[in-house]
Amino acid sequence: MQRYGIDIWGEDDFIIDHDKVRVNHLSSPALYDIVEEIRSKGTKGPLLLRFPHLIQKQIDAVFNTFHEAFEVLQYQGDFKAVFPLKVNQYPDFLKPLIDAGASYNYGLEAGSKAELIIAMSHIQSSAPITVNGFKDKEMIELGFLSAKMGHDITLTIEGINELESIIEVANEMKAPVPKIGIRIKLHSIGSGIWQKSGGINSKFGLTSTELLEAMELLKQNNFLDRFTMIHFHIGSQMTQISNLKKALREAGNIYADLLRMGASSLQSINLGGGLGIEYTQNEAYPEVTYSLKEYASDTTFVLQGIAKAKNVKEPNIIIESGRFIAASHAVLVAPVFELFTEEYSEKALRLKSENPPLIEELHELYTCIKPDTALEYLHDSIDHLNSLLTLFDLGYIDLIDRSNSEILTHLIIRKAILMLHDKPVKELRQIQDKIQEKYLVNFSIFQSIPDFWGLAQRFPVMPLAKLDTRPTRSASLWDITCDSDGEIDFDSKNPLFLHSVDLDKEDYFLGFFKVGAYQEVLGMKHNLFTRPTVVTVKITKEGYRLTELVKSDSLMKILEDLNYNPVTIQEKFLANIQKSSFITPSEHKRVYAKIVTILEENGYLKTFN
Ligand SMILES: *Cc1c(COP(=O)(O)O)cnc(C)c1O
Repeated sequence: MQRYGIDIWGEDDFIIDHDKVRVNHLSSPALYDIVEEIRSKGTKGPLLLRFPHLIQKQIDAVFNTFHEAFEVLQYQGDFKAVFPLKVNQYPDFLKPLIDAGASYNYGLEAGSKAELIIAMSHIQSSAPITVNGFKDKEMIELGFLSAKMGHDITLTIEGINELESIIEVANEMKAPVPKIGIRIKLHSIGSGIWQKSGGINSKFGLTSTELLEAMELLKQNNFLDRFTMIHFHIGSQMTQISNLKKALREAGNIYADLLRMGASSLQSINLGGGLGIEYTQNEAYPEVTYSLKEYASDTTFVLQGIAKAKNVKEPNIIIESGRFIAASHAVLVAPVFELFTEEYSEKALRLKSENPPLIEELHELYTCIKPDTALEYLHDSIDHLNSLLTLFDLGYIDLIDRSNSEILTHLIIRKAILMLHDKPVKELRQIQDKIQEKYLVNFSIFQSIPDFWGLAQRFPVMPLAKLDTRPTRSASLWDITCDSDGEIDFDSKNPLFLHSVDLDKEDYFLGFFKVGAYQEVLGMKHNLFTRPTVVTVKITKEGYRLTELVKSDSLMKILEDLNYNPVTIQEKFLANIQKSSFITPSEHKRVYAKIVTILEENGYLKTFN
């Protein structure tokens, strides 16, 4: 059975049972059934399913794992965590997250004014808010207002000028002054494709010289008691733990030295985000080489060691991991709209009463191929095809012969793949690479998995049903945008095999997993495909409940968002209908109604039924 790597990326969130992939929680419903139910109520196009229990699962894991690590090492500091809003700001994600984190006092991190407004209006006042990113005076004022409203807020400064602004605002707005954090520039750097955030040349943070200046500025203005936290972030999706350990040693020593220099309120080290998750579908190439447990115990161990050696109190540990919390809760489900394979069916053969000898031989290979001769016949057929193509170029065979050769060779390859499936035949991979089939999938890569377009990040993908049938087609996926970048090619490191399906008779859905972090807000409206319909699925003991259905935008809404005037558009249509000589007056109403119906629907393709 093809398991699509679910044992490595699935984290027990999803399981395969018989022919379907199921949510591994309480009643364990099949994704396929959930999707069919939603579609039966009239929703078409791709769907984004949210599973709030998976948000809870990740939050529980983070807090429990750190608490355990603290207990084992008798660590004296506290553990705190905040969710970085930039990872997913949608309310139907955020509200369950806030509920799930309430008992842990899980907080929020904001990187812009809009995010800070979300944090201030949604988080319970005992939970921490941290503010990163560049800040103008108004954003700092907003931070002071938040402190006045009773929030536990820390403004993390990214440069000396921000500290100067804080002092200015403090003199104007008086107490309470928010806590002050300082982002430090580390010479340690992260690893992986998102590693830019660390290092001496990173966009954010204070150098060691600036840090000393900041200390002096705080002292002179009597704000040293508000300086409570140092912060760093070495980049997202850390692939190895060794870089974090390096960064922790550096940050731990900075913390200890600042304490010794008189920063007596300094009590926390904020490690930022970066906790990685496994996206790979191939066990031979894991992306992440450490576990949450290792992350927690290494962090605790390193910081404890430095605190002991330098004889300072053990710092509170704050983390801002976002991807780890949010990625797994959302699954994008996209229907396959069309399968481009017809040209290679037996039906398409146009054999003549007399064919060139090589074609007769190909036909013979095709009818006689058996498992023990499969590899040999496969080689022969590819040889023959090459010879036949040369014959065509030289004018010795015609277009019909050429088409027959191509069809027969593909049919032989397909049979050979089936017969050799369990054997480790290296060439098979290369051949599959060449004969990949195009699955046209009713979604937009730019809208729903922009990190594939921008960073070549692959997301786990698999069909939701037919899992008891061996898939034999090496698939490349095309989205429905008119952009050649909207394609996920067949990757021999991470090969995707899909089923033969008759889409006139059945639906075939692909699930893209772990799309809950970053993808939604980064998604682009390329070709004016907007967010798919989003549905929250609450799994119960008896079944599941669908809540919070947010419909994909109608065409009218999409145009309105671009600043077109819907009234003008409709008036134009009415006028054109009335002017047209092709439409009789008695048809006016019907034609106009048809247009209005289309305008009220979303722009994705409609698959049959
Ligand atoms: C983006 C960001 C995070 C979140 O990173 P993840 O890799 O999603 O955990 C945390 N802190 C800061 C400062 C960030 O910029």
